[in-house]
Amino acid sequence: RIAYVNGRFLPHSHAEVHVEDRGYQFADGVYEVVLVQNGVMVDEMPHLDRLDRSLDELRIAHPMSRGALRSVMRELVRLNRIRNGLVYMQVTRGVAKRDHPFPKNAKPSIVLTAKRISMPSQETVENGVKVITIRDIRWERCDIKSVSLLPNILGKQEARENGAFEAWQVDADGNVTEGTSSNAWIVTQDGELVTRPATNDILNGITRLSILKLAERQGLKYVERAFSVDEAKKAREAFASSATAFVTPVTQIDDVVIGNGKAGTLSRGLRDSYMEYAAGEGAT
Ligand code: PLP
Repeated sequence: RIAYVNGRFLPHSHAEVHVEDRGYQFADGVYEVVLVQNGVMVDEMPHLDRLDRSLDELRIAHPMSRGALRSVMRELVRLNRIRNGLVYMQVTRGVAKRDHPFPKNAKPSIVLTAKRISMPSQETVENGVKVITIRDIRWERCDIKSVSLLPNILGKQEARENGAFEAWQVDADGNVTEGTSSNAWIVTQDGELVTRPATNDILNGITRLSILKLAERQGLKYVERAFSVDEAKKAREAFASSATAFVTPVTQIDDVVIGNGKAGTLSRGLRDSYMEYAAGEGAT
């Protein structure tokens, strides 16, 4: 495997950053994950727009132009012979003597890796997955795709230890914010598609935005509003979305089976249209 570190393509085993990189010491950095399908990037521009936004919100300098970054992404996919997988990119505030305030002269560090991923099994697509619910203990800027992910990894670990695919985080009002690495959706008994609005409480998923666009085009009834855990447990359907999980049907929330325990009709339809979009219009 080959990785990219600050201007150089290196063997994965030699891809290193300095011990005083602020990403390592303070989680002072941001990241993006772009899906590669059939050798091409999916929703690349919106992901790069979100990277720029995350950097700007934290006042981290942009390490390179968009054109240069796109070339690096392509070269990495080529060097690693990825047909189906992902590109991971991370930008931190750079290397400086450890001190909390922003350093004066640090240059941002940029690292990219790529790996293959396999598609979810037919079993997952048909029978869906389980999610558990946990308290959302994150901060008030979940809209920034920061590498500071301790609450997310603790939540995902709890999910794994409970035989679940994902943990849906719940705010103080009893409403679901999102998963630890995906957005949360339900379909009400009235057939309305619901997902939480993109405020600072959630990461505005690029997959989420594409699904909303597809729902709009198909004339589906949808609304962006908060929904409670109770409402989710009474829903007709539920699913999770992310660049690497696409649309993953959810058929169990804690101990409650959703619908008839099989992936719902609307979820399956949206999954199919998203996959079609990813292979066509969304591909670059
Ligand atoms: N929410 C969180 C907390 C995430 O980490 C992610 C992706 O990793 C998402 C939502 C989904 O975002 P996207 O669809 O852009 O992958």
